[in-house]
Amino acid sequence: MLFKIPAAFIAGLKVENVTSEVASVSVKRKWINQNPFRSIYFAVLSMAAEMSTGILCMGALYKRKPSVSMLIIKIEGTFFKKAINKVVFSCNDGNIANQAVERAIATGEATTVVCTSKGVNEQGEIIAAFFPHGALKQKPAINFIMQISFHGAARTVTGSKHLLTLNNGKKILLDCGMFQGMGAQTDELNRHFGFYPQEVDYLILSHAHIDHSGLIPLLVKQGFKGKIFCTPATKDLSEILLEDSAVIQRDDTKYSNKKRSKKGLPLLEPMYDLEDAAAAIKLFTEIDYNNRFTIEDGIDVLFTDAGHIIGSAAVSLRIKEQGKITHITFSGDVGRYRDVILKSPENFPQADYILLESTYGNSLHQDIYETKEGLLNWITKTCLQKKGKLIIPAFSVGRTQELLYALNQLENEGRLPHLTYFVDSPLSREATDVVKSHPENFNHEVQQVLLHDKDPFDFKGLKYITTSDESKQINFYNQPCVIISASGMADAGRVKHHIKNNILSNDNTILMVGYCEPASLGARLMRGQKEVRIFGEEYEVVAEVGSIKSMSAHGDYEDLIQFISNQDKVMVKKIFLVHGEYGVQSDFAKRLEGLGYTVEIPGMHSAEMLG
Ligand SMILES: [Zn+2]
Repeated sequence: MLFKIPAAFIAGLKVENVTSEVASVSVKRKWINQNPFRSIYFAVLSMAAEMSTGILCMGALYKRKPSVSMLIIKIEGTFFKKAINKVVFSCNDGNIANQAVERAIATGEATTVVCTSKGVNEQGEIIAAFFPHGALKQKPAINFIMQISFHGAARTVTGSKHLLTLNNGKKILLDCGMFQGMGAQTDELNRHFGFYPQEVDYLILSHAHIDHSGLIPLLVKQGFKGKIFCTPATKDLSEILLEDSAVIQRDDTKYSNKKRSKKGLPLLEPMYDLEDAAAAIKLFTEIDYNNRFTIEDGIDVLFTDAGHIIGSAAVSLRIKEQGKITHITFSGDVGRYRDVILKSPENFPQADYILLESTYGNSLHQDIYETKEGLLNWITKTCLQKKGKLIIPAFSVGRTQELLYALNQLENEGRLPHLTYFVDSPLSREATDVVKSHPENFNHEVQQVLLHDKDPFDFKGLKYITTSDESKQINFYNQPCVIISASGMADAGRVKHHIKNNILSNDNTILMVGYCEPASLGARLMRGQKEVRIFGEEYEVVAEVGSIKSMSAHGDYEDLIQFISNQDKVMVKKIFLVHGEYGVQSDFAKRLEGLGYTVEIPGMHSAEMLG
């Protein structure tokens, strides 16, 4: 292969740059928007719009879509005219696109190849790599510019994926998370990365949460073969989380397909299966906190404790290229200072660029110690007074252990009501075991509790549910009880069934204890919707809906500002805000700018030059 099409860059092109001469494109944009490789197509337009000279040999051919092929030809005739000798069509697959370009070069159809992003930088200087025909018989020296592109958790909170491309063309992916709770578009977003997995050289994983790790098996299935670096606890957690994700997909697909087949709709396929998850885990390589590790010559990584969940890390990269060192830190998710179980986030080395999460960039949490009391109040009201069931959607990792720890504390204080406390999630049990196996990550207070209570996550009345038959039996359990079940946004997993089965009684309470994507079932309940759709059917919300906001595993804006407070502001060239809703990010950006930082809120699939 002569070169790779830098898809990440292409995906970030600004389509607004296209001039009115190609206005006809907008007519077809609706169709193009449905096409996963629309970005290549946009690239043709955008590059041509920005460059006054040069010849482009990259395009998009949709053989079976004559209207679009014709459209490109039309553009060639009217807009490209003198600028382009030949437009080489490639088809809707990255590899075939590359082959088409190679072929075009070999046959002389293309006289110049452009293989970088916009073709020009912000100053209008040409930065594209141009290769006159003939010169390509030698290996081309491709001139990439170090850049980062954002393919998830960009103006939204899930799907964390940030791709760093070095000057030498090496690609390092930071996290490979799944989009969650984004309504009808969730599946579509998850199935199209916006870059080519086979082009990624390394993956660095900040922590095991599925919105940061959940698409790793799909990445591997689609051709990624590099190493995956993370902390030991993150590896342990990822192993069970990715397996679980494969099982959820299998079960959800089966459930949906039953309904779809009745309606005569086409059946769905899961994104990956258990074998894909197992293949992905084989690529994991553990690195301890505070152990600077050389990935390859010129690329070092350092993990520091981010205090968010067991094993969570801020990722600090030191890249040395052509004698210049660039420091880039990706915060991952940042926990809270004075977390109930975990240590506080650690300082990280001085950075030139920081990718900072911003989930709670415009709010302050309640006092963290109110969690235990809030929980006791809801148990008392629902289970003791109304004799109902308290359903708590909770992420298996982090949130469930916090709940168990709070309930255990209540028992230690002799205040825990005698009830059955179901934890209905095999994953939650496994995750709790992983957490217990990494006591080195606990804070001082938990270390003290361990001196007299050897299992601070276990108490009388706790019952783990493993099989789905046992889970269904809970429906017939007619005593007041507490049901802790995943997922935390109530968008997937067994908790959806528990909500469906208990939503029609005023005796019951659905207690939300963490962040919910606006389109998720959890958020719809928290907004006070009178009716909600669950598994395709409308349900009236009769049960009470409560929330304990203090249960967040994410820092608020004071925590986030404290997290970066060890940095010399003058040396930080830019902070990219990721992992937040746009409105929240805008507020946080103003706050950070007020402190003297330069801040950018990158959009989905956008790319930014570094250095
Ligand atoms: Zn997280």
